[in-house]
Formats: sequence, C-alpha cells, structure tokens
Amino acid sequence: MVAARKEAERANRAKSRFLSTASHDLRQPLQTIRLLNAAILKIVPDAHVRELLQQESLAIESMTRLLNALLDISRLESGVIEPSSVAVSVAEIFQELRAEFASVAAARGLELQIEPSTIVLSTDRTLFCQVLQNLLGNALKYTDRGWVRLSCVSDADGVSLVVEDSGIGIPPDKLERIFDEYYQVDTHGEKRMGVGLGLAIVKEVSRLLGFSVRILSTLGVGTRVLLKIPGRCRIAAAFSTIDSALPQVPAAATRRARVILVEDNQGVRVATELFLKLEGHETLSAGSLAEAEQLLERLQPGDIVIADYHLDGQNTGLDMLLRLRERVGYDVPGIVLSGDLPSVVRSISAPVPACRFLSKPVDTTGLIDAIDQLGNAPGDRRGVAWRHPGTFV
Ligand code: ADP
Repeated sequence: MVAARKEAERANRAKSRFLSTASHDLRQPLQTIRLLNAAILKIVPDAHVRELLQQESLAIESMTRLLNALLDISRLESGVIEPSSVAVSVAEIFQELRAEFASVAAARGLELQIEPSTIVLSTDRTLFCQVLQNLLGNALKYTDRGWVRLSCVSDADGVSLVVEDSGIGIPPDKLERIFDEYYQVDTHGEKRMGVGLGLAIVKEVSRLLGFSVRILSTLGVGTRVLLKIPGRCRIAAAFSTIDSALPQVPAAATRRARVILVEDNQGVRVATELFLKLEGHETLSAGSLAEAEQLLERLQPGDIVIADYHLDGQNTGLDMLLRLRERVGYDVPGIVLSGDLPSVVRSISAPVPACRFLSKPVDTTGLIDAIDQLGNAPGDRRGVAWRHPGTFV
C-alpha cells in the first residue's frame, strides 16, 4: 500500500507538471494567433472573410478559456498556491466585476444587478476575484432571460455572498456532481462553451480561503450560489471609501499614445506590434533588455511601456519599468504582461501606480482599454505620479 501510494503521488505530480508546462508553452503561440486574428479583422473589408475570422476568433476564445482553466486547476492541485490576505473592499471588487461582465450581460439581454456593499474582507484578492468571476460567468452563461444578481451581506456567523440568476437551473439529481472536475450537465446536447472546470476551481479556491459553498437550484426557475465567509475574515467597514479615491477615467480615448513594447518572443512581438499599429498607436519594439535600454533613451512624456514580465533570467519587465521610472523621475505608465499572473501578483509587495497587469494570452480589447485609460490618466505626466493602485486583469 505504501508503494502504491507513493506511485500514485508521483503520477499525480507528473500530471500536474505536464499540465503546467503544456499550458505555459501553449500560451505564447496562442497569444500570437489571437493578436494576428484581431489585426487581420481590422484590415479585411470582405464580409465573408470577416465572418470566417469572427468564427475563428470564437474558437480562439474558447481555447484560451480552456487553457486558463487547465492552468488554474493544475496550479491549485499542485498545492503551490498559498493565499495571502490583504484588505479587500467588496464594493471595489463588485465595481471591477461590473466593468468586466456588463457587456456580456448586455449582449445576452440580461439585467446585471450588483448590490451596494460596505463590507471589507481580509482575504486573498486574486483568489477571491477568481471565485466570483467563475460564479458570475456561470450565472450569465446559464441564463437566457431575466437577471443575474450579486450581493454581499453581513450576518450573525459572518458574511454571505450570493450569486443568483433567473436561469435554466440544475436538475436535483445532478447537483451533487457539478463540483467534480470536467462534469457538465448535458442541456440537450448544448455545452455552452464551458469545459466543466469552473465549479471545481470555485470549490478548491473556496477551500483554500476557508469559505464554504452551497448551491440551491430549481429547474427552469434559477440558481442561487451561497458563499459563506467566516466572521474572522470581516474587517471594519471604514476602508470602503477606497472607491471614491479611484481616479475617474474618461470613457473614450481622445488621443493615441505612443507605445514602447518590450517582448522577447519574436512571434508575440511582431503580432502585438502589428495589432497596435493597426489600432493607430505608433509602436517601437525591442526584443531584449539591451535593445529596450536603447529605445527607452527616446522616451517622451505620454509614452506607454508594455513589457513582458519574464524578460530574461534575472530581470523582469516590472523591474525594467521601475528602474526607468527612477531614472526619468516620474511614473511612466506601464502594462506588464504575464502568462502566470497570480504568481506575479503574489510577488509584488506594494501597489504599483499607473501600471496594469494583464494576463497572457492577452485579451485584445482589454489591452486597448488599458492603453486608453493609462494614456488619458489625469495628472501631470511629466511630474506628479498618478496614484492609481496597480490593477490586475
Ligand atoms: P462549465 O465550464 O460547463 O460551465 P462548471 O464547472 O462551471 O463548468 O459547471 C458545471 C456544470 O454546472 C455546468 O456544465 C452547468 O451545467 C452547471 N451550472 C453551473 N452553474 C450554473 C448555473 N448558474 N445555472 C445552471 N447551471 C449551472
């Protein structure tokens, strides 16, 4: 039995290692394909070709989702994730979720109701967001008409976070299995673009955070997911004014910032540069830190630096950005890209102002939004830093 157990553990470690390596190595080419697809869509006028490209982009989206879910689950299973608690304003997270999901809800004709909350929790911000993103994503995916509601209230035993929908519901005999990996309820052969890992991730992350999850559902009426957060995670509500301190970013960009791109993978670099140029951004690119140092000599106020996090063995894109800021004496706006965002987030001890952290393969709309927001940030670009806490997407 001891030998069999050892063998099983070895096999499990090998599986997690394989998944993690495969997911990492697939990210770069997927990123390239994604950016090239978006770039070609921009320049092709023919309606038939555009339709094919749009179909292709749906397939790319679904592959990206699968890859991200595989990486998340393998990381969770390998036990390398240790939650690190910080003060998390529920209102702030809700605001971010609204920004992320409003267009999905609108496209599906659903009302997204997000209740106000003054609760502040002590928990791991990234993992907490991951749970809510999965639950909200499911609620929107499995609702054809009506509404999806997100609320958070304090009660006698702690905090209750509820994600409800007026959707298709789950058959009672399937409720027990929906947290299993790869399990999907077959809704008339329709799989709704899922991979069956969302709730497995929710369960595992909730366990790590000390939350419990319960699902109540009535077929054809809707589903209610209840996240019970223990009272010890609740902090006095005084922090919740954080929201009003966030700068108001203009909705639309009024100018196109110049971009300095630092990316060592040639495929990704060429595709990103092409995409940014088609979006109207003058783009200078460097394939190594040495090249980047030369390019950055030409930095002008208003330029935005986009850098890969893993540049070479010793230096990260973030180190490069911080060094540059020190040299020029102001917070040069930056976007840092990483295939392993949760680890990057964990390694940062203090918020980085005027900096966005985006996950690879990058979502092209997210990248453009980040550039527009940083390019239009209030404050004097030559002197005073724009004190926005780094945002993780
Ligand atoms: P998937 O990627 O298929 O969405 P999940 O693990 O997130 O995988 O969910 C497992 C299954 O549970 C889904 O296939 C779906 O049938 C069901 N499910 C999850 N959330 C909901 C919901 N809000 N309403 C109805 N069914 C749901």
